[in-house]
Amino acid sequence: MTIKNSIEVKNLVKTYGDVYALKNVNLQIAQGEYFVLLGPSGGGKTTLLRSIGGFIRPDKGSVAINGKNVDNLPPDKRPTSMVFQGFALFPHMNVSQNIGYGLKIKSISKDIIDEKVNKMMNLVGLSGLSERMPNELSGGQQQRVQLARALILENDVLLLDEPLSALDAQLRKDMCIELKRLQKTVGITFVHVTHNQEEAMSVADRIAIIANGELLEQGTPREIYSNPKNKFTAEFIGEKNIFKGKVLDFNKKLINVDIIDDTIKIANLNYDIKTNQEIYLSIKSESIDIIKKNKIEKSISKNNETINGKVSEITFLGQFVRYLVVLNNGKEIQVRTNHEVKGLKLKDNVALSWNIEDFLLHQN
Ligand code: ADP
Ligand code: MG
Repeated sequence: MTIKNSIEVKNLVKTYGDVYALKNVNLQIAQGEYFVLLGPSGGGKTTLLRSIGGFIRPDKGSVAINGKNVDNLPPDKRPTSMVFQGFALFPHMNVSQNIGYGLKIKSISKDIIDEKVNKMMNLVGLSGLSERMPNELSGGQQQRVQLARALILENDVLLLDEPLSALDAQLRKDMCIELKRLQKTVGITFVHVTHNQEEAMSVADRIAIIANGELLEQGTPREIYSNPKNKFTAEFIGEKNIFKGKVLDFNKKLINVDIIDDTIKIANLNYDIKTNQEIYLSIKSESIDIIKKNKIEKSISKNNETINGKVSEITFLGQFVRYLVVLNNGKEIQVRTNHEVKGLKLKDNVALSWNIEDFLLHQN
């Protein structure tokens, strides 16, 4: 069985004056997928989502949904529903009326609307609140009304633009779990826009990174987190341990790179590289071990690299501790551990050690 595409975006371009909001974006989303568009503000996420929904007409390119071209269809003729940024509820309508509105304007009978509204209220966890007015609801409840209002239309695709951005951090975490569960229950395709990487990771089957109007890369949350191809993604998803470097020599297994005035070896994960090529390297702060100098050193295994430095900052962050370490050449590296390293103080000399597979190489 082949999985059919829910959404296929081809060569999409959208400009506003001199600004390229989308530069030739190509994207395929499978039916029933929970897909997240993740990237910094101004990157083009909303423009892409609205182009799929039919609210924006791109300059070039095409959008197909369920295998059918929808370029000439207005939003209400597309098999999509949209949850807009912020809480756009009708203030003079109660919860049931807000949820049923989209069916009412289609002249569907009251009995059927009532039945569907009830079902939706149960589904999104609003039972018992049908008479409430929007100003009597919490932020999370208002967001549920929005969801119910979009889902009741029974379209094949739900488009969500920063659906959780108005909620506080804890509620956002809870709603992520609920959104994911909801998507599995209804089984339709969700396309969720966010600039929050934790939110993206917790809901997505797949994530596309969007910045400067370009789709940089896509993959499962694990792929994007563990093996980012682009320097930009490594920086956006992980920590700020990004270094400029140069390829000295390499074979199938190993690469010697000149980095931070030092030579280190990294694993060759099938990179397409040349000798003397300028590259970037990144390592996650949690992939580095920090060891008090004069303690171990000899026990470091052969798949590890080490470098010496001095602790310049210690920040206790509850679930983990962040150490800033200055290297001999003045450059800094961040190290994150999930417990305090016993006896380690500011200005202590340390050895940093990591597995050679954890230093990733990026071409751009
Ligand atoms: P995101 O949702 O990722 O924050 P947007 O898609 O809203 O990004 O915007 C992409 C780019 O297009 C930004 O530079 C933004 O300023 C510009 N832009 C978006 N909408 C308009 C508009 N209506 N008029 C002019 N520029 C716009
Ligand atoms: Mg936006």
